[in-house]
Amino acid sequence: MDQIECVIIGAGVVGLSIARALALEGRDILIIEKEDAFGLHTSSRNSEVIHAGIYYPKDSLKAHLCVRGKEMLYEYCDLRGIPYKRIGKLIVATEDFEIETVKQYITKASDNGVEDLIYLSHNEVAELEPEVISVGAVFSPSTGIIDSHAYMLSLLGDTENAGGVVVYQTSIASIKPEEDGFNVKTEGLNAHEIKAKIVINAAGLYACDVARTTADLDENLIPQPYYAKAHYYSLSGHNPFKHLVYPVARQASLGVHVTVDMAGAARFGPDIAWIEGIDYSFDNSREELFYDAIRRYWPAVNRDQLQPGYTGIRPKISGPNEPAADFLIQSSKDHQIKGLINLFGIESPGLTSSLALAEMVRQLIESEA
Ligand SMILES: Cc1cc2nc3c(=O)[nH]c(=O)nc-3n(C[C@H](O)[C@H](O)[C@H](O)COP(=O)(O)OP(=O)(O)OC[C@H]3O[C@@H](n4cnc5c(N)ncnc54)[C@H](O)[C@@H]3O)c2cc1C
Repeated sequence: MDQIECVIIGAGVVGLSIARALALEGRDILIIEKEDAFGLHTSSRNSEVIHAGIYYPKDSLKAHLCVRGKEMLYEYCDLRGIPYKRIGKLIVATEDFEIETVKQYITKASDNGVEDLIYLSHNEVAELEPEVISVGAVFSPSTGIIDSHAYMLSLLGDTENAGGVVVYQTSIASIKPEEDGFNVKTEGLNAHEIKAKIVINAAGLYACDVARTTADLDENLIPQPYYAKAHYYSLSGHNPFKHLVYPVARQASLGVHVTVDMAGAARFGPDIAWIEGIDYSFDNSREELFYDAIRRYWPAVNRDQLQPGYTGIRPKISGPNEPAADFLIQSSKDHQIKGLINLFGIESPGLTSSLALAEMVRQLIESEA
C-alpha cells in the first residue's frame, strides 16, 4: 500500500492553494482529481473577480477570508507575474430607492475592514462609465480581475516544485479513519489503496458526496448540498466598459453584472436557477431576462450582441429561501476525526479567498499536531 502524508481531494483553486501551502511546508502531497485536468469545474466557471469583501456578514468566514485572501492574492500575482488588473467596480443604483442600499455598502464594507469605498453621484458615474445609467453608485477601487487559469497553473507549479504530485482521472471511492491516519481507496485511472495521515476534502460541488464516503463521520454534520446554476452571456463587438459594473445585489446572487476579462472582452452574468444535479447545459431562453436586467443600467445594449457564453454552478449549502450560508470548514474540533478536513459551500468569494482558505487549513492541521 502506498503511504503519503497528505491527500487532497480536488484540483480546483481551493485544493491547489491548500496543496501549495502544505507542500511549501515540506509535507508530502498527493492531489487526487477525478477529471483529466485541473480546475474544470467551478474554478473555471466563474466571474474571475477579485472581490473586495463588501457584501458578507460581519465576522463571517466569507468576510474575513475574502479580505485577507484579496491581499494575499494581489501579492502572489505580483510575485509570480500572474495577469490581473485592479480595475475597480461600480455598484450602481438605477432607481432612487436603491441609493440607500448602495450607501449601506460603504458601512457594510467598513464593518469587514474595507475602508476604501466611495459614493459617486450620477455625474461622477457618467464620467467613469459614459454609457451607464444611474442615480448614484459606490466605487470599490480594490476590486479586480484575474486570469484564473494562470493562477491555478502557478499554484500547481509551486506544489510540484515542492515535490507534490497530482493524479488525474482518479476519484475517491472511500475514506476510512484508522488508528494512525486513513485508508483511502481510489478508483479510475490510478485505482489504489493509500495510507494517509491527513485527508482534505476540497471537492467543491462534490464535497458532500465525498464526505459521505467517509466511515465514522457523523452524517448529521454533512450539509445538504444545493446547486444554483449561473449563465453568462458574452458581448460581441465593442466593449464600452472600463470597470466592473454591478447592479444592487439580489437574494442569493450579486445580480447580472458586467465583468471584463483580461483580454478586455465584456461578459454579463451570472443569473440564478436552482437545479437538482450538476448539469452545465446552457438555457438560451434566458436571453430575454438578461436583456431586461442589462438594460436597467446599460440602455444602449443591442440584443444581437449577446452571445451564449458558459455556465457555472454555485456549490451551496443553503436552499432557495434560506439566508446564504457561510463557508463551512470542519476539522477534528467538529467531527473528532484527527487529520480530516472537509470544506463545504465554497461558493463566491472562494477564488478570492483561496490563499486565505489554505492558510486557515494549514493552521488547523498545525493545531492538531
Ligand atoms: C457562477 C459563479 C461565479 C463566481 N464568481 C467568483 C468570483 O468572481 N470571484 C470569486 O472569488 N469567486 C467566485 N466564485 C466562487 C469560486 O469560483 C469558487 O469558490 C471556487 O472556484 C471553488 O473552488 P474549489 O476548488 O472549491 O471547487 P472546484 O473548482 O469545483 O474544484 C473541485 C474539484 O474537485 C474534483 N472532485 C470532485 N469530486 C471528486 C472526487 N470524488 N475525487 C476526486 N476529485 C473530485 C472536481 O473534479 C474539481 O476539479 C464563483 C462561483 C460561481 C459558481
